[in-house]
Amino acid sequence: MCFGGDLVGTATTAPTEDTTEPTVWGLIGNTPLIPIATDAARDTGGRLFLKAEWLNPGGSVKDRPAREIMRVGLAEGALPRKRLLDASSGNTAVAYAMLGAAARIGVTVCVPANASSERFRLLAVFGAEVVETDPMEGSDGAIRRARELAAAEPERYWYADQYGNRANPVSHYRTTGPEIWRQTGGAITHLVAGVGTSGTLMGAGRFLKEKSSDVQLISVEPDAAFHGLEGLKHMASALVPGIYDPSLIDRQVFVDTESSESAVRTLAQERGLFVGWSTGAALVASDQLLGEGDATVVVVAPDGGGRYLSETRRWARG
Ligand code: PMP
Repeated sequence: MCFGGDLVGTATTAPTEDTTEPTVWGLIGNTPLIPIATDAARDTGGRLFLKAEWLNPGGSVKDRPAREIMRVGLAEGALPRKRLLDASSGNTAVAYAMLGAAARIGVTVCVPANASSERFRLLAVFGAEVVETDPMEGSDGAIRRARELAAAEPERYWYADQYGNRANPVSHYRTTGPEIWRQTGGAITHLVAGVGTSGTLMGAGRFLKEKSSDVQLISVEPDAAFHGLEGLKHMASALVPGIYDPSLIDRQVFVDTESSESAVRTLAQERGLFVGWSTGAALVASDQLLGEGDATVVVVAPDGGGRYLSETRRWARG
């Protein structure tokens, strides 16, 4: 643990703030693995778990790579001298903004203008500088804008490049992967994750495959170039991330926005768990796997539904 003292209050002395890393940096990871009893799993004897990444302090899985990337920038001496600059569909931006605020690192993020209003509010809360990019160009437009800014003002910006930065998958290799292995007691057979930068699947997946070559890695992508699954990339039509290695993936599943939203709604109204749309997509993909027989499936839940509240106005109140 990076933080000083015992934050859950079982020690007899009050916690003290660590001087090497801000306290909030040490609260990342060790998220719960939540068992979900589904009909598909019951019929075949399979098991389904959600890795509850929305419980990270910044509200998403992206706290993990953001911290690892910032550690590299600090070790190189580029931070906090320069501002951290990156493109993000929103969650990494919020993670940088939160971690940067705690470490007095200036943060500038390029975010597509159609990212959810909740994300823009959070960026303002943490005091980040935000450059809104063309919504029609999605995360690729944000990447192009960040590259332009980095080239134009190299003295002002340190370009973090989460799509090409090895520290992104490394963070999952060091934390997400080992946690899932430990929490399933080594029983995991399938890891299901939506791919954006692909850092989660590449990093956690590589770790799990090293532990057992039988573990299958399932990538989940939107089924079309234009989609409502924030944070996910349709690789065939997008700028392919430098860290993406398709040879590691055993199976690709393509999911539409409507069935993802419907899976989110069912989970909320039947289990009281409100997850984000990309988790819904991964749950749809996991149904196929559970139908195929005795499997222990872990679905990464990158963020919570609170980040999409503004999109649920038309849901029934019944
Ligand atoms: N879902 C959401 C909501 C995200 O923000 C992201 C990150 N872009 C992902 C899934 C995919 O994670 P990764 O970048 O590690 O592939």
